[in-house]
Amino acid sequence: NRRILLASRPVGKPTPDNFRLDSAPLSEPDEGQVLLKILYLSLDPYMRGRMNAGKSYAKPVEIGDVMEGGTVGRVVRSRHPDFAEGDVVLSHSGWQSFALAEGSTLRKLDPAAAPISTALGILGMPGFTAYAGLLTIGQPKPGETVVVAAASGAVGSAVGQIAKIKGARAVGIAGGADKCAFVRDELGFDAVVDHRAPDFEARLKAACPQGIDVYFENVGGHVWDAVFPLLNDFARVPVCGLIAQYNDAAAHSGPDRLPGVLRDVLSRSLLIRGFIQREFVDQRPAFYSQMAEWIASGQIRYREDVVDGLEAAPEAFIGLLEGRNFGKLVVRIAE
Ligand code: NDP
Repeated sequence: NRRILLASRPVGKPTPDNFRLDSAPLSEPDEGQVLLKILYLSLDPYMRGRMNAGKSYAKPVEIGDVMEGGTVGRVVRSRHPDFAEGDVVLSHSGWQSFALAEGSTLRKLDPAAAPISTALGILGMPGFTAYAGLLTIGQPKPGETVVVAAASGAVGSAVGQIAKIKGARAVGIAGGADKCAFVRDELGFDAVVDHRAPDFEARLKAACPQGIDVYFENVGGHVWDAVFPLLNDFARVPVCGLIAQYNDAAAHSGPDRLPGVLRDVLSRSLLIRGFIQREFVDQRPAFYSQMAEWIASGQIRYREDVVDGLEAAPEAFIGLLEGRNFGKLVVRIAE
């Protein structure tokens, strides 16, 4: 079994030597378990947090352990009554080519219903994050302006398209001309702004003539700085991710903006609410059926960025934190 382990903890940006490829003998499943051949591995920004020591909303990966991650696998041996050889399942098996898993933790996938890799993207955790975070906290109304960054990515692409379905105006922020063209022309956002443009703030303001009613926060950093002055009274800000900060090794020095932010939270009745998607677990069944319908009707489109081979995972993951991916990043481990 080939696996990628956490070799050391990164300081700042991860580097290839933070990861180690190794191989280990396979064991047989115990009662209640299945043996999976992993077909797809999901690469997600949260994995950067798992590489750090210290307390967060989830436990870190220990040095020498297999890197954590969502996976799609095929059952090659089963000792669980609900699973047979050949079944395709969603598991959380991490960066490896085979894995043992408790049957009770798996979700069976229907390869005829959707490409199986979508269980890691639009029909999986990132799609659900967009759905639950936008609808529960953002609550976009017809005619309102919804802004989301990382708009060509797994979460952001779904946020803007769901906002449109709800009758809102969707404004995307993305890095570079190709991603911006995709967000506007393929995903159908009403406007898109390149956050790398020198006059980004002015362009964002021009793209939001009525201000911003919902800002779905995926990024933090300079994007937040540009968005904040444009928030309308009673704006809602689901704080989903802060990817611009994930590689920061030390606290930023500079002016403390918190007093001004809190003054505006009060005087403009802003709702800023962080969330981790799993807290909305009871909405998952509704999401699975609703999202499948939206995809079938063409109201939601998605793009995947597929890289080949387990060995390619570290470099692809490093690129994800720099915006080198274009769409939901997955690694194809086997056919
Ligand atoms: P994406 O597929 O959107 O990929 C990440 C993208 O982030 C990059 O392509 C890049 O897009 C953008 N980015 C990276 N660095 C920066 C930067 N310094 N400044 C601005 N943009 C940057 O990833 P996901 O859709 O999987 O995740 C999006 C966000 O959602 C992340 O913050 C993630 O942590 C969060 N998340 C939160 C969850 C929760 O439960 N709260 C669950 C899932 C995701 P571009 O080139 O366009 O800038």
